Amino acid sequence: FVPPIRNNGGSTCNAINSRGITGKNDDSMEDSIKKCLEMLCGPDGELPEKLRNLEPRLIEHVSNEIMDKDPNVRWDDIAGLDHAKKCVTEMVIWPLLRPDIFRGCRSPGRGLLLFGPPGTGKTMIGKAIAGEAKATFFYISASSLTSKWIGEGEKLVRALFGVACCRQPAVIFVDEIDSLLSQRKSDGEHESSRRLKTQFLIEMEGFDSGNEQILLIGATNRPQELDEAARRRLTKRLYIPLPSSEARTWIIRNLLEKDGLFKLSEEETGVICKLTEGYSGSDMKNLVKDASMGPLREALQQGVEITKLNKEDVRPVMLKDFEAALQEVRPSVSTSELGIYEEWNKQFGSLS
Ligand code: ADP
Repeated sequence: FVPPIRNNGGSTCNAINSRGITGKNDDSMEDSIKKCLEMLCGPDGELPEKLRNLEPRLIEHVSNEIMDKDPNVRWDDIAGLDHAKKCVTEMVIWPLLRPDIFRGCRSPGRGLLLFGPPGTGKTMIGKAIAGEAKATFFYISASSLTSKWIGEGEKLVRALFGVACCRQPAVIFVDEIDSLLSQRKSDGEHESSRRLKTQFLIEMEGFDSGNEQILLIGATNRPQELDEAARRRLTKRLYIPLPSSEARTWIIRNLLEKDGLFKLSEEETGVICKLTEGYSGSDMKNLVKDASMGPLREALQQGVEITKLNKEDVRPVMLKDFEAALQEVRPSVSTSELGIYEEWNKQFGSLS
């Protein structure tokens, strides 16, 4: 027996009682499930239809672990990528903000693919879209569906789309989507991953044909592994390349300025930019982190104790710190990989 619970509107959430959460989980888990279902109940105290046949613990997992209520990334946090920002604004953000205008001929595609080397800002773009479009953001790594949720992936996918449906407008970001929608030979394909893939495509089909305000963003470093069905559903495919020299400068300046540590001259940043050709955004972040340790390391080498170190006495980050950091932080993407992305972009990418 589960005692009646009042939801925010004061009505009893029958759905929770009727589901009869058992004593299998510990108390806090049970509490968390109750709270979460309560939030999803309508004014009539019932769970929306979509969620009724789903397992409460999976709904709880989606709501508390996969849903991100405050993704906290804005366009201005992302260096460069003007082409992607422009396409995404028109294709995704405007339609989410003004569904009444974007109907018929103007109705947007519901699937977007972001592909390119790792650490170039694909996840940041996903979060920024949700932020700019005031949408709920759901993040899931497809490889976790196949590794962590063995045998339960399909159910979790259903719960994910079900909760997203109740939290519209919503952006579902599927990282490493290739591991879910790859073009493996059907006979060599594992039965459970085939079922998971089918379930995923069914869910996508479902909201694609309806009036739902849900956008699916798939991100991948291996676009060449995606099969034709996946490509067809991810109608817009944007290449997210390595940062340009201006974008790399911007990342250095932005990160150091945030901490009041930026004292480099234009000439010095120019030198760093030349030396960081081929670095991803994430490599640049690691480089700045390492360089910013330089002044501290130097002070400690001179015998100053960290506990007695006066913050004001720490010298600014200099070119030599970056030169030392460059020995530690190497680029993570090889030039041969870039050729694959560029080829795929020419063949399948949305170039405008
Ligand atoms: P991806 O999803 O492409 O693998 P992420 O979006 O997770 O990469 O980026 C990882 C980190 O690298 C970010 O948190 C950010 O600090 C940095 N980064 C990557 N690309 C950019 C960019 N274009 N502008 C600013 N920071 C970036």
